Amino acid sequence: MINDQVKLLVEKYSLTRCARCNFCESVCPTYAATRRRIHGPRGRIWLIIYLSQGIDVNSDEYDGLLSCLNCRACNQVCPAGIEIAEAIHDAKALLVRNALK
Ligand code: SF4
Ligand code: SF4
Repeated sequence: MINDQVKLLVEKYSLTRCARCNFCESVCPTYAATRRRIHGPRGRIWLIIYLSQGIDVNSDEYDGLLSCLNCRACNQVCPAGIEIAEAIHDAKALLVRNALK
């Protein structure tokens, strides 16, 4: 089940440590381009958490996750020390693999 795999990701990267401080949004190029939360690290992190809870992802949110450039700028500023870019990368891989099944 995709949810179980996403749950493992949430645990692996301790995503619920996110304090919603928004520091990561201030350095994210895709968030700067659209100013939409789903195009920034915080939105992507919480989308992964919601996915792990069985909440469906719509195509807009799915695209927001896929649009991450993996530049890792967000990792540098996260006070919680979350490996944000790596978590998003792994979640993207999971979703794409699941979509191809
Ligand atoms: S790795 Fe993705 S989420 Fe993080 S700053 Fe870069 S584009 Fe934004
Ligand atoms: S910088 Fe870290 S703690 Fe702050 S909103 Fe982004 S992911 Fe969450």
